[in-house]
Amino acid sequence: MNRAGHIPFKHPEIRLNHYDKRRPEQYCSQATYLMRAGLQSRILLPSDSGYNACEKSYFSNTAKLKLACIIRPTFNSQVSTALRALVATNEKFAIRSGVYTLLIGLNNIHGGVTIDLSLLNSVRFDSASETHGRVVAGGREGETGVAGLLLREGNTWMTARNGFACDNVVAFEGVLADGLIVTANRNTHADLFRALKGGSNNFRIVVGFTMSTIRPPPLVFAQHCIAAGGNALGLEHNTSDGILLQRNTMLKTLDQKELTYPRVKACIRAVDEYTATIDGGLLEWLYLNYADEYQDVLRSYSAENVEFMRAVSRKCDPQ
Ligand SMILES: Cc1cc2nc3c(=O)[nH]c(=O)nc-3n(C[C@H](O)[C@H](O)[C@H](O)COP(=O)(O)OP(=O)(O)OC[C@H]3O[C@@H](n4cnc5c(N)ncnc54)[C@H](O)[C@@H]3O)c2cc1C
Repeated sequence: MNRAGHIPFKHPEIRLNHYDKRRPEQYCSQATYLMRAGLQSRILLPSDSGYNACEKSYFSNTAKLKLACIIRPTFNSQVSTALRALVATNEKFAIRSGVYTLLIGLNNIHGGVTIDLSLLNSVRFDSASETHGRVVAGGREGETGVAGLLLREGNTWMTARNGFACDNVVAFEGVLADGLIVTANRNTHADLFRALKGGSNNFRIVVGFTMSTIRPPPLVFAQHCIAAGGNALGLEHNTSDGILLQRNTMLKTLDQKELTYPRVKACIRAVDEYTATIDGGLLEWLYLNYADEYQDVLRSYSAENVEFMRAVSRKCDPQ
């Protein structure tokens, strides 16, 4: 473990930023090293207003720790400067990106410095390559952090077809312990390139990923339905795939239904209302086997298909 919390300011030679209202004794020793390296504007101390928001951003409440300070670089060169300063002073530090890891101590460090890379989030496209109708491998949940996913394997919706997300990385740009920024790919630093794919944070701080693009999954619903001669579901009108949401509760006694049933309905309604705010987000179709009695499944098949089924019914059962 690193030195804990707030250690009195020992470096009076460091000039405080003119706008910096913190008192010198509010700085921990780690922060003073980083300030001395010129990173004053990038440091967050527990007493700073932005610190709480940063702490709050952890996906898991159980993964939060009290840090000495957070450093939030906005340029790769600042990562390099920070790393050099921390290594030179033998300070322990942690690296965080999307903070989606649930385990404590992986993306933060009690009493130490956490390098928060979430501001290094720019995306560039290779103008020479085709950028329309292509995707990159990402987490199956939309907000999953990128760096942790790509450095720690990365299971995606397309893993069976395109390998793990890390296998779709063409090059890693990263900062080595001596502060040098180097690119690792198949031809340059090939061993590092290979080790980073699944090697997590053990080799360098990665500040950039170059990824190959892949074909998105086919429009399975609509295409299968049309190819198989059509069905009664009305899905042939959909131009994109959807997510099938099923909400269940397990009850010990029937009287518990009174309490849970309205909540389940409210939850489904909230999802519907939210997805309706997204362009093309709400798929009206309901799945018969998962639907509840209050849901009008046949209506969700479209008026045209309901009429079609009525016609078939009249034909089969004229009475
Ligand atoms: C709701 C949810 C859904 C998820 N879905 C998926 C999924 O579909 N597929 C899947 O594979 N995983 C999934 N995960 C797991 C998730 O991908 C991993 O926890 C991943 O590590 C998170 O990445 P992150 O950028 O948020 O990493 P962080 O939590 O910030 O860090 C994770 C680890 O990576 C290191 N690290 C982060 N950034 C860097 C960097 N730039 N350089 C060096 N080391 C770095 C950190 O030090 C830490 O050890 C999911 C997690 C949650 C909570």
